[in-house]
Amino acid sequence: MFQVSEEHRMLRELVRKFVRNELMPLEKTILDRFASGQPAALNDEENARLFKQCKELGLWALDVPEEVGGANLPAVALVGVNEEVGYACVPFTFPPDSPNLHMLLATANPEQRKKYLEPYAQGVTSSAIAISEPGAGGDPAGMKTRAVKDGSDWVINGRKIWISRIAKADFTIVMAVTDPERGARGGITAFLVDKGTKGLVVARAIPMLAGQRTYEVVFEDCRVPESQVLGRLGQGFAPMQLRLTVRRLQMGSWCIGMAQRALDMMIEHVKQRETFGQKLADRQAIQWWIADAATRLHACRLMVMDAAVKQDDGMDVRTEASMIKLYATEMATEVIDHAQQSFGAMGVTQELPLSWLAQKVRTMRVYEGPSEVQRMVIARRMLGGR
Ligand SMILES: Cc1cc2nc3c(=O)[nH]c(=O)nc-3n(C[C@H](O)[C@H](O)[C@H](O)COP(=O)(O)OP(=O)(O)OC[C@H]3O[C@@H](n4cnc5c(N)ncnc54)[C@H](O)[C@@H]3O)c2cc1C
Repeated sequence: MFQVSEEHRMLRELVRKFVRNELMPLEKTILDRFASGQPAALNDEENARLFKQCKELGLWALDVPEEVGGANLPAVALVGVNEEVGYACVPFTFPPDSPNLHMLLATANPEQRKKYLEPYAQGVTSSAIAISEPGAGGDPAGMKTRAVKDGSDWVINGRKIWISRIAKADFTIVMAVTDPERGARGGITAFLVDKGTKGLVVARAIPMLAGQRTYEVVFEDCRVPESQVLGRLGQGFAPMQLRLTVRRLQMGSWCIGMAQRALDMMIEHVKQRETFGQKLADRQAIQWWIADAATRLHACRLMVMDAAVKQDDGMDVRTEASMIKLYATEMATEVIDHAQQSFGAMGVTQELPLSWLAQKVRTMRVYEGPSEVQRMVIARRMLGGR
């Protein structure tokens, strides 16, 4: 049913080589940092070297439109790319990270395209998005961060939390309430806030599972000119949803890569490990883990491919994206857990990739909308206007 073109197959092959030859040799470094409690991330020097290689290989600006210097690849081409990236225990994305790219493409005016979209699309700058707040995460409509017009400026006050990458990002898309009466229905606006803007204070780094870091940030009379409003005033919610859909498909593919890695490790291990005079691979309990993992991986691949085809056809895939986010993260959680169990004590050390994968997927069941919120959204759409 899903034909992968020769061009997309070759792209995936190229990415696989890059992942196996360049990313996977860095796994030990990442796992050492993870085990010692440091951020399990690549440093600037490592990233710069990898980015240079990506550029030389043409693995750059993959889903960026041609007029902004990209390869303009469809969503179906990215399915295999992201799956390959998910296979390595190294946090890495090909620049630019897709969700904010698509939000900017949908909203940036000509000046913002020049100033923000073009350098971002070319991988020269990095970005973050600040939606969540101490009192509003899974339900962002409850956000309180306020932007008030003062002359020709907007003044932002409030607190955001769990924000990834914001300490280093060149700019952040900040969601703030501009009309409290309307709230999510026409009262939330997106703003572009540059790093170093007075009043944008990174209050603390928060260590998360898998050696990740998020940040709490405070906006104290943070003043930005009218030109920093991204998209239409009060209409920030819809483009934010668009970016979530892009990320959820991407997460589906990452989870497939992560679960495939765990399954490959489990298969290799159980074929050689003997207990009670028999190979683990000969035990039905273990065989069922492997059969279930392979079956659910297959189902997940079809789900992601189906949504990507529909997205490329311009269809609304918000429900599919919720289903993928829910299914893929729960599928990978189970597969990785069974792989850990099959390795016994070794499976729960911080030396093998499995513990890092388990912690990473644990966070993925929360960010970009927790599983329960996805279920609520899917059920709401199935039940209609109840
Ligand atoms: C690693 C990581 C990175 C992140 N990066 C960013 C970022 O860059 N930018 C950003 O803005 N945010 C970011 N977040 C925040 C993330 O989007 C929120 O944590 C998430 O939306 C959940 O919000 P919350 O933590 O406030 O949980 P809450 O909304 O308080 O929900 C807590 C729990 O309650 C349950 N629940 C909630 N609603 C329902 C419901 N309707 N029905 C049943 N159960 C429900 C779920 O189990 C949920 O996990 C990140 C989070 C993590 C973990």
